[in-house]
Amino acid sequence: MSDCLFCKIVSGEIPSDIVYQDDKIIAFKDIQPQAPVHVLVLPREHIPTVMNITEESSNLIGYLHLKVKEIAEILGVAESGLRLVCNYGKDGDQIVQHIHFHLMGGRPLTWPPG
Ligand code: 5GP
Ligand code: ZN
Repeated sequence: MSDCLFCKIVSGEIPSDIVYQDDKIIAFKDIQPQAPVHVLVLPREHIPTVMNITEESSNLIGYLHLKVKEIAEILGVAESGLRLVCNYGKDGDQIVQHIHFHLMGGRPLTWPPG
């Protein structure tokens, strides 16, 4: 989508600090990290929200989750632990309308979040 911030990051039009990428997904550092490790993991394909996942795109979202282990290893949090969060809607506080999963770690994270 031409006016989507994360599509522009996927295409390279907007620079980002990429920690992992392949032909289906990309993971880059959040510009405003809330933890020592804070990376956004998303499909290259523009799927707006968790509510827009279809039967066809469910494989892609499954693949993204499969890759979390590898990305966590790259980031050095595979053993210490992490949190994987997908925000949606007003109450979930999703700001960017291209589905993404926050991978956070590097410090103890409290529960529940605010
Ligand atoms: P949301 O609230 O939509 O789940 O999270 C959007 C995230 O994207 C926020 O954590 C925000 O800091 C991050 N973000 C917003 N703009 C940019 C940007 O231009 N580059 C990067 N790397 N992260 C961004
Ligand atoms: Zn997009």
